[in-house]
Amino acid sequence: MDDTLKPRAPVAALAGLRWANRFARLDPAFFTRLDPTPLRDPYLVAADESAAALIGLSPEALAHPDFARFVCGNLLAPGCEPLASVYSGHQFGAWAGQLGDGRAILLGDAVGPDGRPWELQLKGSGLTPYSRMGDGRAVLRSSIREFLCSEAMHALGIPSTRALAVAGSDEAVFRETMETSAVVARMSPSFLRFGHFEHFYYAGQHARLESLADHLIDWHFPELRDAKDRYAGLLELVCARTAELIAQWQCVGFCHGVMNTDNMSMLGLTIDYGPFGFIDGFDANHVCNHSDTGGRYAYSMQPGVAEWNLYCLAQAMMPLLDSQDQAQAILAGYRPGFSRALGAGLRGKLGLRDERPDDEALFDSLFSILHRGRVDFTRFFRFLSRVRSADAGGDSGCRDLFADRAQFDSWVAGYRERLQSEGADDADRAARMNAVNPKFVLRNYLAETAIRAARGDDESQRLRAAPGAGRVREAGEFEEVRRLAAVLSRPYDEQPEHESYAAAPPDWACALEVSCSS
Ligand code: AMP
Ligand code: MG
Repeated sequence: MDDTLKPRAPVAALAGLRWANRFARLDPAFFTRLDPTPLRDPYLVAADESAAALIGLSPEALAHPDFARFVCGNLLAPGCEPLASVYSGHQFGAWAGQLGDGRAILLGDAVGPDGRPWELQLKGSGLTPYSRMGDGRAVLRSSIREFLCSEAMHALGIPSTRALAVAGSDEAVFRETMETSAVVARMSPSFLRFGHFEHFYYAGQHARLESLADHLIDWHFPELRDAKDRYAGLLELVCARTAELIAQWQCVGFCHGVMNTDNMSMLGLTIDYGPFGFIDGFDANHVCNHSDTGGRYAYSMQPGVAEWNLYCLAQAMMPLLDSQDQAQAILAGYRPGFSRALGAGLRGKLGLRDERPDDEALFDSLFSILHRGRVDFTRFFRFLSRVRSADAGGDSGCRDLFADRAQFDSWVAGYRERLQSEGADDADRAARMNAVNPKFVLRNYLAETAIRAARGDDESQRLRAAPGAGRVREAGEFEEVRRLAAVLSRPYDEQPEHESYAAAPPDWACALEVSCSS
């Protein structure tokens, strides 16, 4: 089939899609209209049925060969109006000037059966006017990581953009070595970033700031529509949502890796999955991004970086605010908001019901021994629900995670005292804890295993491929991506049949490095 032809005629697989393109109705200064660049012979790697249902696509539609072509931008659904938006941002603390959707194309809003519009973006779908030195493409490995993590975060209950599907093509792209291309179709109520506001502020186009803010308020913060000071209210809500989001990241040991202002969502969502990571053995200063040599985006830095980014946003919104004092007063709400959310999150993780003055000391002492022992973060909290409050009997599994058992013994004695003073029932506490402490998170080695299978990196694949010939795609290759996605869609369930996915990383995983290259 000639994939340079992009019919806008009805296509059976996409018949469920209805479009209402809110962003395309804005002033053309916000974007450039253009079509995605097709990829040769695309194949579907994985799709998410729950995300698809939000926009009225059935499981049958996802299985149709046209769906992979749609995800790769080879087939345009009637009614979509593709565009790339312009934004700027601060990267690693320095003003980077104009960035923009360099490899993501917004098809428009797909409207769900419930009437809710979802922006649908194809990431990796070709050059745009904002591609700068890039090639407009994304590689299979990073696309699989974004697909898996978006859905894993959603299942954890952490605000995130969603992933509809990932499709690949054997078209080559060059990073450190030759790799193959892929596209992630991702969905969000809005992909607006802090950087969109920074762009128009630093361009001196302040009326456009107002249009952007009005757009956000109209569609995403309707409670502000009739507010007296709606733009101040907008900044306040973004601060509050960001505080909540970062607290949730800290509670599951998630490191974003590239918290530049262009990767900060105006809706307080986790956005732009690149060199992210979940902490295995706890290190408060863990840096997941190998390119982040200064550790600017280390785990322990994330709360402060988010605040710094909010200052950048407030600066960009100054023309919409009354005064510097007003901006300062709003920003001052971030730290207490974050502390409140983190405190509530950690109390939940420990199964505590009451808020008490010595909570912080209990948390600090715990994080200090987790850090010193490089204790597996996810396994520790999951096992903690099995600690008995009345006595040291039973084997929770926690103690064995510590090389220095005495450190755990001393901390857990204080924890037991606290549980007893709350009069907690163990079974009830365990149920509450297991609903907030995931058993399964997207550890790097799990993603890597799925990626290696998908790329055919394993020995059996190499042997099957004739020398010099293009590798033939086999149905089984994407099984592991799909199985892992299914496990991660129920992170709080025991799933005893998938026990191995809850294991600490094997030795080979120590050598894994994730960088900005994607
Ligand atoms: P990121 O660090 O992935 O959030 O990307 C920062 C900026 O670089 C954004 O404007 C991206 O669109 C752009 N970018 C990253 N990779 C590419 C690429 N391969 N081609 C074009 N633009 C890219
Ligand atoms: Mg980005």
